[in-house]
Amino acid sequence: MTGEPIDFGQYEEGRHVNYWELDPVFRDEIERLYPADEFAWAKDKLAEFGEVVGHDIADNADVVDEEGHTLQTYDKDGNVVNNVRYHPRQLENDRLAYERGVVSDAWNAPEGREEPLGLQHTLAMQNLLCYVDAGFVCPVSMTTGAAIVLDKFGDNEFTEEYLEKLTTDDLAEFVEGAMFLTEKQGGSDVGANEVRAEPTDEDEVYELHGEKWFCSNIDAEGTLALARRPDAPEGTDGLSLFVVPHTKRDGTLNDQVYRRLKDKMGTIAVPTGEVEFEGAEAYLVGEPEDGFKAMTSMLNFERLTNAGGSIGIMGRALLESKIYAANRDAFGDSIDQYPLMRRDLVDMQTDYEAGTAFVHEATRIYDRYERYEADPEDARSDVEVHDIDEETAFKLMRLLVPIAKYKLGRMAVDTASYAMEVKGGNGYVREFVNERLLRDAQVTPIWEGTSNILSLDVLRVLNKEAAHEALFPFVRERLDGVSHPHLESLADTVESEFESLQEAMVALATEDPDYAQHEAKELADYIFDVVTAALLLDRAQDQLDDGDARKALVTEWFVETRFGQAAARGITDGEKLPDDRFEEIVHFAPIEPDALLDAAPADD
Ligand SMILES: Cc1cc2nc3c(=O)[nH]c(=O)nc-3n(C[C@H](O)[C@H](O)[C@H](O)COP(=O)(O)OP(=O)(O)OC[C@H]3O[C@@H](n4cnc5c(N)ncnc54)[C@H](O)[C@@H]3O)c2cc1C
Repeated sequence: MTGEPIDFGQYEEGRHVNYWELDPVFRDEIERLYPADEFAWAKDKLAEFGEVVGHDIADNADVVDEEGHTLQTYDKDGNVVNNVRYHPRQLENDRLAYERGVVSDAWNAPEGREEPLGLQHTLAMQNLLCYVDAGFVCPVSMTTGAAIVLDKFGDNEFTEEYLEKLTTDDLAEFVEGAMFLTEKQGGSDVGANEVRAEPTDEDEVYELHGEKWFCSNIDAEGTLALARRPDAPEGTDGLSLFVVPHTKRDGTLNDQVYRRLKDKMGTIAVPTGEVEFEGAEAYLVGEPEDGFKAMTSMLNFERLTNAGGSIGIMGRALLESKIYAANRDAFGDSIDQYPLMRRDLVDMQTDYEAGTAFVHEATRIYDRYERYEADPEDARSDVEVHDIDEETAFKLMRLLVPIAKYKLGRMAVDTASYAMEVKGGNGYVREFVNERLLRDAQVTPIWEGTSNILSLDVLRVLNKEAAHEALFPFVRERLDGVSHPHLESLADTVESEFESLQEAMVALATEDPDYAQHEAKELADYIFDVVTAALLLDRAQDQLDDGDARKALVTEWFVETRFGQAAARGITDGEKLPDDRFEEIVHFAPIEPDALLDAAPADD
């Protein structure tokens, strides 16, 4: 990360900039965790994408957020037309993103490569998109998610056809995906789904009846929906999965009514509505009654999208804050010269780097697992750090993905909210992007599973998959790699927390279920903090080996704020790292390892 510091004061706001160039933390994670050949190909593409997102897509996103889409359910004669009138600027954004391969590069070898890239690349592009529009990322991600399901579970002519359309790089043939799970009586409780699937005379073709209550990207051709066949058992075991297109094979509208679009707080770029199936033509995906299992593989991807999207929102909020704080004068100086604001910005930066480390590691593990699934013999492993086997990848993926989604959703809300305050009154005014960031952030803890549901999933994964068996060596390996004197005492602190965490996990496994549920969120928080500390230490050590001490400072602040136990909450301990090292942490001023041993702070 060594290089020139960034002068955030030269910008007026966090738009009409290149998000790839202005985010060395994101760039470092990508370089570290992509297979080397994929990074070599992708870095220029991501740089170009960061530029387009920061300019055209950002401008379009603001207009779409302001003006939105509309739904025409009936024509003047009362016929159902289910016509979503998309804002033209959204159609322009669709083109800008899809033609750059945000979906197709993970399925078809793009120009200059012989192989497609991993899903990690799709997630990285989505991460950049969320700097400007988390709503738009919803259909982008559901397109990949639906393709993942059809690729793994689809086994008939219909699923093959839709898989091809979802993943093609020919935009004339391309269709988007969606997933309709939630019904009025339950979103978390998917097993309560009541939509019925009646068989027809044709194999694999069904007619759906009933209502879906939250349907994002409502008119997607590649929609997947859960429904129950006659005599299927209750609960999730009785659910089957179907493709329910907007248009039937004969070219007419499918038999469903888009009742209305939800009047949402944010994510305006994606139309979310209510659908009434009235015998809608639907094609079975995979085995009957295997639908929930199939849908789970989509949910893993969507949850990572959500976590990476939260990172994008945080990245934008942080950028806006840095720029504003560098330019806004109060009491005779720019506000980023005042110790409290410097501490605020270091806190936000530390949260951002903590979240980024966790989510990108979870993404790398997920990507690795998917490569094993696709071809165990040819799973790519040319990542330079900490390779993992298939079983470890599965267990860690199952554990880290729900935690990433839960934690980052909440962190994005916090960061977006505080970034509003950094802008003072302007932050609360709609002409500035902050209120949209907060509106969009607020959905991230809710959709794809709420915080509680994800924390309960963590308990389930520990009990059913014994995920701790993979987690413990994963953390240990990173702690054991720490050798720099500055990091050793931090590693000791984390080591002691790691021991307590292990004891807590073992204890909870034998507690009665009600007590375990009561502590589920605490446990997820604790796993996040310990794992993140270990990841940051690992990265800090590597950077120190390369002559760069910046990550060590960030790690120090993370460990101190999460695990520090100074008397009087540290108020009297004389420590003021954020003020002393503001330039290095927030503006990326270079700092060499030897400087960590000096008492004097860098000259800013
Ligand atoms: C903008 C938006 C778009 C959406 N798009 C889609 C979509 O495209 N497809 C789709 O299928 N769904 C979609 N959803 C629905 C979303 O996934 C659900 O709203 C969400 O999963 C929560 O379900 P619910 O609304 O039924 O709330 P509930 O399940 O009723 O939950 C209410 C509260 O109870 C808590 N809770 C529930 N069970 C427990 C428990 N056992 N222990 C402790 N707490 C519990 C939850 O954490 C939550 O806080 C969308 C939602 C929004 C807001």
